[in-house]
Amino acid sequence: MTATIRSVSPQRPDDVVIDVSASSAAVVESAVDRARGAQREWARAGAARVVALVAAADAVRKASSELVELVVREVGKPRAEAAAEVARTEAILRYYAQQIYDPEGAVHLASPPRSFALTRRQAHGVAGLVTPWNFPLAIPVWKAAPALAFGNAVVLKPAPAATACALALGELLAAQLPDALLQVLPGDAEAGEALVAQVDVVSFTGSAAVGRAVVRAAAETGVPVQCELGGQNPAIVLDDVDIEAVAQQLARAAFGYAGQKCTATRRVIVVGNAREFTDALVTAVNALPLGDPGAAETVVGPVITASARDRVRDVAASAVRDGGRVLTRRTVPDSAGWYVPPTIVDNVPPGHEMLRDEVFGPICAVIAAPSVTEAVDIANAVPYGLTAGVYTRDLTAVMDVAGRLRAGQVKINAPTTGVDFHLPFGGTKASSYGPREQGKAAADFYTTTQTITVAAP
Ligand code: NAD
Repeated sequence: MTATIRSVSPQRPDDVVIDVSASSAAVVESAVDRARGAQREWARAGAARVVALVAAADAVRKASSELVELVVREVGKPRAEAAAEVARTEAILRYYAQQIYDPEGAVHLASPPRSFALTRRQAHGVAGLVTPWNFPLAIPVWKAAPALAFGNAVVLKPAPAATACALALGELLAAQLPDALLQVLPGDAEAGEALVAQVDVVSFTGSAAVGRAVVRAAAETGVPVQCELGGQNPAIVLDDVDIEAVAQQLARAAFGYAGQKCTATRRVIVVGNAREFTDALVTAVNALPLGDPGAAETVVGPVITASARDRVRDVAASAVRDGGRVLTRRTVPDSAGWYVPPTIVDNVPPGHEMLRDEVFGPICAVIAAPSVTEAVDIANAVPYGLTAGVYTRDLTAVMDVAGRLRAGQVKINAPTTGVDFHLPFGGTKASSYGPREQGKAAADFYTTTQTITVAAP
């Protein structure tokens, strides 16, 4: 029996967004074969690749209203953030379209007399992309755009909960590209495993546990692999900040899109007297617009599934059992949607899972630290190292703390959330595996370097 993939709207779970067959291993294999056939010509297509990617960006712009509606409906992303994601999707395509004109390599001296050597990029072949649901357009595109720009074909296996978004995106992009060069295959673990086993390069974003399995599978076939995984992101607040302004910013960094971002702030570490700052943070969180993600002002919508909602509730209850105190007081809409109140907990005992594991939802701990040194130790005392924030006006402290934080990104006086697509992105420790993605780093990942020595005959 063929498995099906069914995606429903988190704010109205009886609204079935899509119901499709999952791709079997045989379907994956044949898609990769067809992609491999299309890739050979594409790698040689030169400036035609620029034209195609610019046309893809234009197509995304033309469809932007429909895409925003679909993102809101399928993954419950608040409208303003959904619109920003669609704009970013278009921008990423334009950015990588222009990189096709960058130098492909360099000319060097070579050993034989009257000779020289060239280094130049070569595409790997077929890129297998496996993606999560929380950035249903931007993550597929920040992988697919550079893969295509540098001459690869793409087969994308999106998360089941974002299947309709991925198929819509795939349709827009594929219409501007040669047949079979970009394909989207609905499915879950089985399709993901089949894809990783077939392709020439693998880029994965998702949870740490699945990422580790993907790394092992890619090592088995010997292909390059990069994984962007979870986070347990700290923000350190020193005692010289504008309390109101920082509290407002952190409220959104922790709870925007119901905390469903790998870069969301999960622990606020306050140096010195934490009382005044915690009060300001709780006030800011209590005032966040919460409700239907379709409303223009909403900041906190539902979480993606009933089990994600239950996990947040369970972790909060466990923290309270162990001595934690829930400081926020929010009620959620009286609807069938998977809403869970934004929850700030203090007094969580060291070692509790809330301070160690990733809980992918609207829950955040406040921790008091007696000194900056101890704040950094607390920040680093997790298996993850994706992103970290530091709030202070003290430049010396900034340089000192940033240098000691084990995180791929450090944001000074800026939210841990938010990623610039033109900068390299990735974490340390369990947050990442392999080379960075995005920015110019993507060119290195999606190509291999060939060295050609040319001697006079
Ligand atoms: P997930 O790990 O459950 O799934 C990710 C993808 O892997 C999905 O497409 C899924 O179908 C597929 N998959 C599942 N098992 C597989 C297997 N054995 N082989 C191959 N593919 C398999 O993650 P999710 O719930 O979709 O997304 C949330 C997670 O993603 C969070 O942990 C979050 O931190 C992380 N995330 C990280 C980043 C980043 O850039 N670091 C960005 C967004 C989300």
